[in-house]
Amino acid sequence: MSAHHISEPKDTSVEKSVAPTKIPRCGWFQASASNCADVHSNGKPWRLVLLGAPGVGKGTQADLLNQRLNACHLSTGDLFRAASKQKECDQSPAMRAAMEQMRRGELVPDATVWEMVRERADCLRCSSGFVLDGFPRTLGQADALKQLMETERIPLHAVVNYELPLAEIVARLSGRRTCEKCKAVFHITGQPPKVEGVCDRCGGKLFQRDDDRPESITVRMAAYERSTAPLIEFYKALGLLVAVAAIGTPDDICARTIAALKSRA
Ligand code: AMP
Repeated sequence: MSAHHISEPKDTSVEKSVAPTKIPRCGWFQASASNCADVHSNGKPWRLVLLGAPGVGKGTQADLLNQRLNACHLSTGDLFRAASKQKECDQSPAMRAAMEQMRRGELVPDATVWEMVRERADCLRCSSGFVLDGFPRTLGQADALKQLMETERIPLHAVVNYELPLAEIVARLSGRRTCEKCKAVFHITGQPPKVEGVCDRCGGKLFQRDDDRPESITVRMAAYERSTAPLIEFYKALGLLVAVAAIGTPDDICARTIAALKSRA
């Protein structure tokens, strides 16, 4: 199958506005060798994996770490969301099936995910390092990543596991609302818009992501417990796991993460 060329969605979310100078992710979205590394390589590269249940804030942390550690934010969820914006006739049958699985909150099969990541292996080789968000999510994916990194002699520095009680996670996800126009993110109690259902920034209509609906959240949590939670032991056994409490503001959590990483360096 040919490389998946996917355009990066416009990122104007309130959640992500804390990290205004993002490293371009052209190589990741276009699955091509690109010179995007040239703009941000400096010093020792960090190569990190972020773990944690859906809704724990991995994407926000990946953006902050991207800015503070100069390592590119590589999210498989962002790839699938960008692919879902493509015309159906441009999607392969495997990708169409993946879109349906994503809508239901299920995990996409390892083969489809690995094909997407393998086509983007240049991003893993990048001299500026990376922050992987949402990958690996199964032991099969973790094994495939480990083998690739060993073959390429690229060391993974740490796997950060963000910890938060389940009740708090469900409340965060089910209250999340997104603007259909500018993609700003709100929360019905934590960060409500001035007018209910209307975006403060552009006046667009707020909607609930399909996979943030209660029925999908239940499926996503079950998939996490069954498939992703075992990665904690996998990476602990490799001596790579760093546990970080995902409480407080995004900046607090990021500072806690960097302190934990530096104490190991
Ligand atoms: P995320 O934004 O990381 O929560 O990902 C959104 C959705 O994309 C997930 O609920 C899955 O359906 C799919 N997905 C993203 N990354 C993976 C992965 N590594 N393995 C399987 N499915 C994935």
